[in-house]
Amino acid sequence: MYHSVDHFDEDPHLVTVSPARFGRQMAWMRARGLRGVGMRELLDAHAAGRSRGLVGLTFDDGYADFATRAVPALVRYGFGATVFVVSGRIGTYNAWDDGPRKPLMTAEQIRAVADVGMEVASHGRHHVSLPETDDTELREELEESRAVLEDLVEGPVTGFAYPYGHATAREVEAVRAAGYDYACDIRPEEPGRHALPRTYVGDRDGPLRLRVKLVRHELRRRSRV
Ligand SMILES: [Zn+2]
Repeated sequence: MYHSVDHFDEDPHLVTVSPARFGRQMAWMRARGLRGVGMRELLDAHAAGRSRGLVGLTFDDGYADFATRAVPALVRYGFGATVFVVSGRIGTYNAWDDGPRKPLMTAEQIRAVADVGMEVASHGRHHVSLPETDDTELREELEESRAVLEDLVEGPVTGFAYPYGHATAREVEAVRAAGYDYACDIRPEEPGRHALPRTYVGDRDGPLRLRVKLVRHELRRRSRV
């Protein structure tokens, strides 16, 4: 689970990985025979029994640096990824966050990353904590975001990521009912296809820490399958 790939001076929420570090992390994966893919590809491969060596790479929030920094590096390695876009904030900035302002991808950038094979998926409309919404607002967050993004990329949007990783049984059921095929959480209490666990990767993660995280993620995943 990544958010932003960019140079930075301050990063209070630890959501930013420097471009140099990100490049080294991708190189580390390739050196170990691993390939980064989007979640849709990972789940399809898993269903077909050929997900060995694949690592799902996700980028929350849809920062502009996904298009300018992450995608060029991913393409260089032949990797894919899923980017979870906040559909009501396209082309603006991360107004929900009290950390440094970061620009979000424009509509053109979203189309461009989809065109080079990245999976565009939904992170809701306004980056709100879904358990705090009423039923109408929840439905709008899920259904409208999907419709807007499907229009934009002219293709299916099948994935969702819960803002802040906040999800109770109500939100998980609503995401399923809204027609999403899968959803990413962070550390779900009850993991499942609509509450997939993810492992945070940050700027401090060099080879040793990445290896520990990979093993831990695999163990956590297996213990729940
Ligand atoms: Zn987010």
